[in-house]
Amino acid sequence: MGADATPNVLTGGCLCGAVRFTAAPRNRHVDACHCGMCRRWTAGPMFTLDCGGTLEIEDATHLGVYRSSEWAERCFCKQCGTSLCYRLVDGSLYSVSAEAIDDKSGFSFTTQIFVDDKPPYYEFANKTKMMTGPEVFAAFAKASDPA
Ligand SMILES: [Zn+2]
Ligand SMILES: [Zn+2]
Repeated sequence: MGADATPNVLTGGCLCGAVRFTAAPRNRHVDACHCGMCRRWTAGPMFTLDCGGTLEIEDATHLGVYRSSEWAERCFCKQCGTSLCYRLVDGSLYSVSAEAIDDKSGFSFTTQIFVDDKPPYYEFANKTKMMTGPEVFAAFAKASDPA
């Protein structure tokens, strides 16, 4: 048993089943985002898997898309309101809700981001990598810098 035993392509969907998708996450590492937008949008920190550009929506009839910033959009089900993913507008990155994925076996909670935005009323006991908003933006700028 190990990462190799789990299928690479995972299935998922919303609460009512109107939106179903497949995605191939880069690994089974779950990130939590504590930023104010994610918390307001998902009613808690948003747990995601990095799925690169691999998300495929089976039927987009009930898919809602909200442009939440200059560079990103948030996809949800228009029928039941489930938060499905955060994506860059150029389609290069889909951070898919870990909770929207059907089979969560092998998932491990590895990183928390925007920890400087986290409200003081909760705290996870998991030992994870912790990144502030400025650290996330710096890492992202480095990764996407063509030079
Ligand atoms: Zn739905
Ligand atoms: Zn966030």
